[in-house]
Amino acid sequence: MSRLRIGVLGGGQLGRMMALAGYPLDLLFSFYESTPDCPAAALGKVFGDAGNSMASLDAFIDSADVFTYEFENIPAAWVERIAARKPVHPGVKSLATSQNRLNEKKLFAHLDIPSARFSEINSEADLRAATQKLGLPLVIKTVTMGYDGKGQFLLKEEAQISAAWAQLGAQAPLIAEEFVRFQRELSIIAVRARDGSSVCYPLTENTHHKGILSHSIAPAPDIDAATQRCAERYVTSILQELDHVGAFTVELFDTHEGLRVNETAPRVHNSGHWSIEGAHCSQFENHVRAVAGLPLGSTACEKPTAMINIIGRHPSTAVVLQQTDAHLHLYGKSEREGRKLGHITLTANSYDELMARIRHIADALPNPMALPRD
Ligand code: AMP
Repeated sequence: MSRLRIGVLGGGQLGRMMALAGYPLDLLFSFYESTPDCPAAALGKVFGDAGNSMASLDAFIDSADVFTYEFENIPAAWVERIAARKPVHPGVKSLATSQNRLNEKKLFAHLDIPSARFSEINSEADLRAATQKLGLPLVIKTVTMGYDGKGQFLLKEEAQISAAWAQLGAQAPLIAEEFVRFQRELSIIAVRARDGSSVCYPLTENTHHKGILSHSIAPAPDIDAATQRCAERYVTSILQELDHVGAFTVELFDTHEGLRVNETAPRVHNSGHWSIEGAHCSQFENHVRAVAGLPLGSTACEKPTAMINIIGRHPSTAVVLQQTDAHLHLYGKSEREGRKLGHITLTANSYDELMARIRHIADALPNPMALPRD
């Protein structure tokens, strides 16, 4: 039997970790990425050129049997071109929804999923009207291409309206969201197979530093069964609506009034990296299984697990590995401020022990991290 070849649009660390999860299943990988020395390059042939020509895309399409992507900010036209010839999972509908915050909001409303009230903004006058309708503060975001808090403005007072428009107006349409007073940020990752069955990982608590994910804890501490069920209901209803195949992430705010959905990603997610060591079957393996048409694996997590991002500068490998139950994942990237270079997974027998280990590992990291609450 010939080996199934999976083509991944994007060759970053997510593609790299998909391939690392897929090789034990005897799957083969190729990537479409304009930078030849990308993190995934060690694991399969990289197609793509500086101009992302259609000829290079066609050569990539020839190289695999089934396709997926590791990043949603890619032209839908690429996915459509692939889909005309070969299967792509997730499909164009998932991509188009997650690429556009207004589409996402419409989907949440359609499915009765609570999220921040919002207004579409196409002018400075719209912005002024939104402050009347929604109150202050407002979070102003670009509708497309936003991630890690990029393309955002926190509008605290009316005097800032012109400044907000001056900063973001050229990228209109924008979205103005009411400011959600949350206790913490959570995410849930689910994976849906081609036969429509799905599995959900436990809710994960995420802490950011300077707009970038600093660390995640899974399962998120102090989550009752009803809250987990609620998050699972939200994500599975989205998966069904989109007829999604593969991993899918929903980011949520935990508030005194319950969960509020913030945004989605039609892919494996940084807040799910803990699952490589922390869950029976990782988000990467389950994603690859879904794309390959294989049965999904268990998402059970036996022990409190943490994932700590390595950002900007590398720690000493030996110092990290000296720590009990520390697993180091490096992405093969060069150092640059704010760049995700790798992550560390820690497991422990209790949350107290886990918090102590996170604090300990923080000493080994050159990048400052947001330490867990005491
Ligand atoms: P996003 O790109 O939508 O994930 O936003 C980046 C970060 O900004 C989130 O992780 C939150 O910390 C914060 N944020 C985004 N939207 C809101 C909101 N409506 N209310 C309060 N904080 C927000």
